[in-house]
Amino acid sequence: MRVALNALYVGDGVAGGRVYRDGLLRGLAAVDHPFQFHVFTRRRPAMPPRHLADLDLAGRRAAVAELGEPAFRAQQLSTHYFGRLVRDPAAMTDLPAASREKLTADLLPTLLTPQRELACDDGATRKTLWKLHDNAMVESVLMGYPDRITACVSSQAGCGMACPFCATGQAGLTRNLSIAEIVDQVVYLAGVAASGAVTGSPEPARLWKPSHAVSTSRGRAAPAG
Ligand code: SF4
Repeated sequence: MRVALNALYVGDGVAGGRVYRDGLLRGLAAVDHPFQFHVFTRRRPAMPPRHLADLDLAGRRAAVAELGEPAFRAQQLSTHYFGRLVRDPAAMTDLPAASREKLTADLLPTLLTPQRELACDDGATRKTLWKLHDNAMVESVLMGYPDRITACVSSQAGCGMACPFCATGQAGLTRNLSIAEIVDQVVYLAGVAASGAVTGSPEPARLWKPSHAVSTSRGRAAPAG
């Protein structure tokens, strides 16, 4: 008698309480075995294009050098993106025109496309729905308070926790976001906050200055280049 084990997919699989690498699982399926393994493969999610915020300091310098630019362009581009919240090459007037187009096309690809923006609480709360490069959808929210603005950003598309009361959980986890996809939400939201669009909060100039940095726990997005 053969017993069917279903719903195993690429990556690590679990059968009979043991974790199998996918290749081992396929090997077991190929030999005479009392179990019949049904292995279903699922493509790994395609990650977004490389972005400045994915790279550490050395990586950013190496990336601009690969484009034929001097290494100090990494700092100039980092200051625009992380510090001044600028991603439009036309606004990077300290860079040669030809360099701007090349650097922004290669290192500041569009990661987030806004699909819908909602405001409530008289403009103190603003939510944005983003489409990612693979059509996955995520949200981020700005919440204005008298002494601060709080930003809530997404680090995953979907959720794997499957809480029974939650529609997001029932749809499962699509994928983790890249570092740059997370940081880009922060940079975008910082720009919205600095524009004064969040009502009931402090003066924008008190919240964000060009010298401010976007940083991550792994230091990937420090502005100095
Ligand atoms: S409530 Fe929803 S989004 Fe939150 S952990 Fe549970 S399934 Fe995930």
